[in-house]
Amino acid sequence: MLLPLGLAAVAGADEFTGNIVVHGTSPARAAQIRAAAEQVRSAAFGLLLGNESPRRWIARCAIHVHATPDAFAAAVGLPPAGSRGATAINFSGNAVSSRRIDVMGDGPDVIPDALSHELVHVVLADHFVHAPPPRWADEGLALLFDGTAKQLGHEDDFRLAQRQGCSFTSPDLLALEDYPADTRRQRVFYGQSAALVRWLIARRDAVTFIRFVDDIDADGLATALKRHYDLDSIAFLDSAWKEVPPIHTLSLNNRK
Ligand SMILES: [Zn+2]
Repeated sequence: MLLPLGLAAVAGADEFTGNIVVHGTSPARAAQIRAAAEQVRSAAFGLLLGNESPRRWIARCAIHVHATPDAFAAAVGLPPAGSRGATAINFSGNAVSSRRIDVMGDGPDVIPDALSHELVHVVLADHFVHAPPPRWADEGLALLFDGTAKQLGHEDDFRLAQRQGCSFTSPDLLALEDYPADTRRQRVFYGQSAALVRWLIARRDAVTFIRFVDDIDADGLATALKRHYDLDSIAFLDSAWKEVPPIHTLSLNNRK
């Protein structure tokens, strides 16, 4: 992939021993981003995968920080479209062989706002090496690590769609294999996926939720629903739309 000019590697003491390497910003800011990313990585491994001492990433996660939408778009190979973060993961057999995150680094915050969300996708990839997680589960979990304002925006998108009668049915949401092409549908998808993941996690916990997702793949949805949530049919998931738990269900995020 062709990187935009100015993305020279930033050297730093921890860069060679940690799991993260940061490019595209000053050494001082890179060190702060690296430290924040290490914390999110540990939290995500612990909270989502029940792994309090994850193995070191030999293929360190490269985080590329971009100052402009054009630089971001050039790096990820998409037209500028308001996206704040992107993740690229490659596998070799049953192991992750490369990890890369591109984030917008503009604005007043030292830590890019999309960093935590994208890191969750990277952490989840370590678990879902045989097959990627379903889109709704992958995004729903990553959204739990976004800032509160962003999460509330996603919830508003979902509630608006619900009022307009254009939200997804549970079977449709769970069956989606790719992101909806239409931007408006995409926003509904994000908001509704987050709502469903929060509802399921509130019933048990995040580690159970991951086992549930594993078992959907292994044994089918009906068996997995019964086993982990004692639900007899996918129709029960519709309760999620009426009883969406609050944003901080997982206590993941105390940022604004
Ligand atoms: Zn995402």
